[in-house]
Formats: sequence, structure tokens, C-alpha cells
Amino acid sequence: MLGKNISRARTEEEPLDSSQQARDAKWMRCALECARQAYLVEEIPIGAVLVRNERIVGKGFNQSIRAQDPTAHAEIMAIRSAAKKTRNYRLPETTLYVTVEPCMMCLGAIIHARIARLVFGASEPKAGAIQSHPLVNDDFLNHQIDWSCGILESECSRLMRDFFLSKRKL
Ligand SMILES: [Zn+2]
Repeated sequence: MLGKNISRARTEEEPLDSSQQARDAKWMRCALECARQAYLVEEIPIGAVLVRNERIVGKGFNQSIRAQDPTAHAEIMAIRSAAKKTRNYRLPETTLYVTVEPCMMCLGAIIHARIARLVFGASEPKAGAIQSHPLVNDDFLNHQIDWSCGILESECSRLMRDFFLSKRKL
């Protein structure tokens, strides 16, 4: 069961209006572009963009291996670039689009940054901290975040599947 501080996916209870869905798909395509950059450098292909007022304020792709940095997930890279760009460690009124369900570390960063909304494509049954393993509860979090999932899900998960299939063939 999900904690109250993270509302259930709107797609399940309260369908997003079609213009919001179109905007979500547009920005998720940008996140997919970032994910492809990770793929090209043989990192797990996850990408993220942070959007405010219909403009990208930060973007990033997963690069933990080449950066030798276990925290260099796509979400963290996008949050860092946005915080630098806006010269603010808080990122209110932003939406984070990420191709794959965030992990526990990234959920923590999302909360610290005060991101308003999270949209992810594919779920991550092993490490996902939003839907797969909801690690949130009322007592623990001091920031509410709205989230949606399943935006361009098949494209997002296909990229991951292709990546791991290509690795297995090596
Ligand atoms: Zn993460």
C-alpha cells in the first residue's frame, strides 16, 4: 500500500486530461533521448529531464560506471544540473520525467529537491521505490509529490531490454 505522501498514480484513479498526456509524452521523449545517450556509452539506459513551465531546466543520463560514481543516476544528474542552472538547491514547481521508476536514493533526492511531480515510464520491479516497493510513509517524508507512471512505457522498457540482451550476447 502506498503512503499518503505519494498519491497513487493518477492513471489508475483520475485519468490525466489529454493535453497533459500529450505534454507528458513530449517530455518523456526527451528523457528517452537522454537514455539513448547512456546506451551509446554502454551504461544502463535510463534518462531524465526536469521541466518547469514547459521548459527543460535540467537533464541527465545514467553514468555510474564511467563516472565511477554510484550516485550518478539519471535523476541525480538532472537534479544537479537544474540546481546549478537555477542556482537553487530547491526545485519547486518542477516535474521530473524519468524513463524508469526511481530507486530509493533518487526518491530521497526528489524529496530533498522539493520536486512537485514525478512521471516515469517503465516500472522497476527490483529497485523501484515508488510503485514496486513504496518506501514512503507519512511519518518519514515532509514533502508531498504527485506521480504518474506508464508514459511511453513500452519504449522505455524496450530500451532496457535491448541493452541487457546485447550485454548477454557478449
Ligand atoms: Zn536512482
